[in-house]
Amino acid sequence: MGKSKCAFCQLQRTDRVFYKDSVCYAVLDLNELTKGHTLLIPMKHYENMLSTPEKVISHMYKVAKHLSIKINKTFGAEGSNILTSSGTTAGQDIMHFHIHIIPRYRTSQGVIRFYYLDSKLKDPQGKEKRLTTLKNLFTKSEIKR
Ligand SMILES: [Zn+2]
Repeated sequence: MGKSKCAFCQLQRTDRVFYKDSVCYAVLDLNELTKGHTLLIPMKHYENMLSTPEKVISHMYKVAKHLSIKINKTFGAEGSNILTSSGTTAGQDIMHFHIHIIPRYRTSQGVIRFYYLDSKLKDPQGKEKRLTTLKNLFTKSEIKR
């Protein structure tokens, strides 16, 4: 999708924006899951987190932390989910990187752990092998600290 047709490239110029700095901006999600459900979006177009420069990601998560603290305090939320989806199979709907900040409130249903909705892995066999594979993969970590 070209930038000119990207909803999140357009949205930054609207009056729905309630936070803005040189890197990113925030709006309420059009379909708020909870009171204060916010989207934090980079000004520049990156398809998802996996293709976004680390400097931008780092800045945005710092902003997400601060927004979440203020939003929770303002609306009386007791917790929050701060998450992003990368790719359509992960449920990403708009192909412009964004972080969901979802304030969580105590409800009569208790805590809804929505990230387990697809239920656990049906066939956990091979878990030890996957663990070994991952340990070998990250023995010499490429992540700079
Ligand atoms: Zn865009």
